[in-house]
Amino acid sequence: MSRETILEMKNIVKDYSGFKAVDNVNFSMHKGEIVAIIGPSGSGKSTLLRCINGLNSITSGQIELKGTTGMVFQHFNLFPHMTCAENITYAPIKVKKEKKENAYEEAHKLLKMVGLESKANVYPAHLSGGQKQRIAIARALAMKPDIMLFDEPTSALDPEITGEVLNVMKLLAKEHTTMIVVTHEMGFAKEVADRVIFMDGGVIVEEGTPKEIFDNPENERLISFLGSMLRA
Ligand code: ADP
Ligand code: MG
Repeated sequence: MSRETILEMKNIVKDYSGFKAVDNVNFSMHKGEIVAIIGPSGSGKSTLLRCINGLNSITSGQIELKGTTGMVFQHFNLFPHMTCAENITYAPIKVKKEKKENAYEEAHKLLKMVGLESKANVYPAHLSGGQKQRIAIARALAMKPDIMLFDEPTSALDPEITGEVLNVMKLLAKEHTTMIVVTHEMGFAKEVADRVIFMDGGVIVEEGTPKEIFDNPENERLISFLGSMLRA
């Protein structure tokens, strides 16, 4: 793994009228690293991701990001009036000014990678949730971001189809795609992440290797969170 720092966040605070959704977070990652963020609902995971990609302004602190981000949301956020291929090629053509034929060629490679070659000309309404999310991943990848951010990409899916999305993410992990994944899939985090971060109350309570976090958790709140995930 390259040791080149790609993201560095220092003393990040995001305050909503006196309430600190993110409260003095320090975090950095290397190129090629795969970080999983776990934690209870409301702990500031989405807010932190949105601070990284600029969807949220930060109240205080410093962010140094070397490159660009792509984001995959819980609810896909595909453009409903565009086909899958149009969803994927839209930003490369509009924002990056790529040639149409190049953008479509790349889109076909991405569709193949996510296993949905046959859906190029289909509208999102005709896809299952798992298929929508795989298109959303292809769309984010089309911009060739330096970091991929995933915000609970499988939470809106039926349990039996989370696997098809997780498999695509495992493929990206194998290719050493730099990624931050907010997830409730503890098995996935354990298998794929280089580092796991546990957030609660807007702070990073504990972080470590999957082994440290899952097999040897130290903080009481983490222990109780992992217990609640097992019972779920
Ligand atoms: P998580 O993703 O871990 O479930 P969030 O980052 O969405 O948590 O939210 C963290 C806290 O910040 C929650 O208490 C939430 O209600 C609050 N919050 C998030 N967005 C806003 C907002 N736009 N305005 C006010 N409070 C917010
Ligand atoms: Mg969230």
